[in-house]
Amino acid sequence: MAKKNTVPKKPTKAPAKKVAAPKPVKKPAAKLAVVKRPKERVLITGAAGFLGSHLCDRFLKEGYHVIGMDNLITGRLKNIEHLFKREDFEFFHHDVSTFVHVPGDLKFILHFASPASPIDYLKIPIQTLKVSSLGTHNLLGLAKAKGARILVASTSEVYGDPKVHPQNEEYWGHVNTVGPRGVYDEAKRFQEAITMAYHTYHGVETRMVRIFNTYGPRMRLNDGRVLPAFIGQALRGEDLTIFGKGNQTRSFCYVDDLIEGIYRLLLSDYAGPVNIGNPAEITIKQFAEEIVKLTGTKQKLVYKPLPQDDPMQRQPDITLAKKLLKWQPKVSRAEGLKITYAYFKSLSAKELHEKDHNSFEGYVRK
Ligand code: UDP
Repeated sequence: MAKKNTVPKKPTKAPAKKVAAPKPVKKPAAKLAVVKRPKERVLITGAAGFLGSHLCDRFLKEGYHVIGMDNLITGRLKNIEHLFKREDFEFFHHDVSTFVHVPGDLKFILHFASPASPIDYLKIPIQTLKVSSLGTHNLLGLAKAKGARILVASTSEVYGDPKVHPQNEEYWGHVNTVGPRGVYDEAKRFQEAITMAYHTYHGVETRMVRIFNTYGPRMRLNDGRVLPAFIGQALRGEDLTIFGKGNQTRSFCYVDDLIEGIYRLLLSDYAGPVNIGNPAEITIKQFAEEIVKLTGTKQKLVYKPLPQDDPMQRQPDITLAKKLLKWQPKVSRAEGLKITYAYFKSLSAKELHEKDHNSFEGYVRK
């Protein structure tokens, strides 16, 4: 019999050696942080204007990539020059009344391009009509193509010289189509109609804000509107010009409050028009007296003819905004005027004396 192999079996496995535990691999934390989600992109037209520039600031603060667009007819690059160094801001010098092309995705479009002061409408009536009609059409087409939500800037001017007071969204208005303000008022009314049509027939997500008188830093000192007009006159040592008897009323909203209301409306799911403004109503004469007190000017109040179709009273009913957006203005007129006056005081002497607008001559109430 063959001898049994007595050679001890070799262990098939080497005895386990004590191996030092592997060093924990460091997570490439820094690398992971680099893989960021691209920012959502927002197009803001009228970006170099008073409201447009404040919207750019707000959307950048909220973490969006902002594409500003402006043809610079009434807007000024100075309002957005602080943004040009940022990578999340781009600027297109373009007139939205002609075809609008924006490469890439868009989450939101805010259409704020338009002359907005009565003297501007008189000076550039055709552009005023085109930007809210042809311009709105182009931007609605862009919103449809990109699947973007669009918010359009409408106005208390759709109520014209109102016969209902305060004005709520159900009031249809009282507008003279062929008066000096008709070019703005009717373009904005057309804008609301075409925006609603794109919503109803094309299913585009649309929002409409009816903006009442708003003020704050970056208004143009010489744009002809009452607040910059009065403060400019006080700073230059001129008399304050009240149009008519000064018993017409307005209700002034500080810009930060307005921007907050617009932001909330954009994120809401309501497609109808919504008033955003401050209901604190005041006569123009009382307002002039407040500016005299604020600035300490020794100048007089002087009376000039009332421009044609100048609305006699204006005050927003903001019941809907309060309910829908849980929004209401927070900044008092005293507080807002102080900030705005400090801004106007900081302007250069050249800006203070620039007068590209002067009067309503030829457009007084008949
Ligand atoms: N206004 C005035 N003096 C001026 C400029 C305006 O009395 O130097 C009046 C104007 O006639 C209107 C009101 O102030 O009744 C507000 O005018 P603004 O141009 O600011 O805007 P509107 O609310 O009329 O669109």
